[in-house]
Amino acid sequence: MQEQWAGPGRLARKDEGYEAMIQTVGIIGAGTMGNGIAQICAAAGLSVVMVDISDAAVNRGLSTVGGSLERLVKKEKMSAADREAVLKRITGTTDRARLTDCDLVIEAATENEELKVKILKDLCATLSPRTLLATNTSSISITKLAAATDRPDRFIGMHFFNPVPVMALLELIRGLQTSDDTHAKALDFAKRVGKVAITAKNSPGFAVNRILCPMINEAIFALQEGIATAEEIDAGMKLGCNHPIGPLALADLVGLDTMLSVMEVFYKGFNDPKYRPAPLLREMVDAGHLGRKTGQGFYAYGT
Ligand code: NAD
Repeated sequence: MQEQWAGPGRLARKDEGYEAMIQTVGIIGAGTMGNGIAQICAAAGLSVVMVDISDAAVNRGLSTVGGSLERLVKKEKMSAADREAVLKRITGTTDRARLTDCDLVIEAATENEELKVKILKDLCATLSPRTLLATNTSSISITKLAAATDRPDRFIGMHFFNPVPVMALLELIRGLQTSDDTHAKALDFAKRVGKVAITAKNSPGFAVNRILCPMINEAIFALQEGIATAEEIDAGMKLGCNHPIGPLALADLVGLDTMLSVMEVFYKGFNDPKYRPAPLLREMVDAGHLGRKTGQGFYAYGT
């Protein structure tokens, strides 16, 4: 049986449909998520083209990957030669035409529906018809974004978690139009880049944030009602439920403005009062207490 190298940990066999497998990945956006996705794809042996709007953004993305790989080398989790090989597999550019022949393009640009629709429409005008398209959006409807493309059946949500090289999960989201074949290819891709995939239907918050964010919102209600202090609520969830971080500390990490806008999307999307944002969350945002990024949230952070 003929075998071919398909990245660390996986040999693909000709009779497994090697030809159909994803070899080149385009990524739109070199920010927090884009450069993390680029890193794990390149580490899995795939060729990556990472596109952003300015040389500065592209270079920031590339140097973040360089720094992240360097830390792996220092911890002896990767050799210096492998670091170089992984970096060589990533091309950073501002030229979107370089994406034309990729097997898969993942959109990971700023979270803005209008922007994403424009990016996808522009992209489809030049993209090879066989290219699969994905988006890393955390809140925009996959069905709606798919409808903006010329290949809605070959469009899927690929929701990675931050930091991408560390978090094991890849949440796949099927829009109404996503085909079984596209889903199967996305599952194969998840395995290839070392992630465990779960699949959710298109719905506000998909599966993970649908559960996580109302839990955090409920913790804020409990704090507001004086049920327990912030420290006690967080200790309760850590020690009693084995969560690695308490919900209020997590809200500070995510950003209270982001938390509020997610709850507003749920409240509006489901038209159900059970998703109403906690009034204390709104108060904190109005006060400019957004969590770690402003130095003050449910906890104070040193400057
Ligand atoms: P970010 O702000 O760190 O990066 C976004 C990048 O997109 C920037 O470098 C920006 O210059 C670039 N960009 C904007 N317009 C562009 C265009 N027309 N072409 C190419 N690049 C463009 O944002 P992020 O945190 O990486 O988020 C990216 C996506 O991932 C969003 O959809 C977000 O909802 C999603 N997401 C974020 C997280 C997270 O924790 N940050 C987690 C899961 C999903």
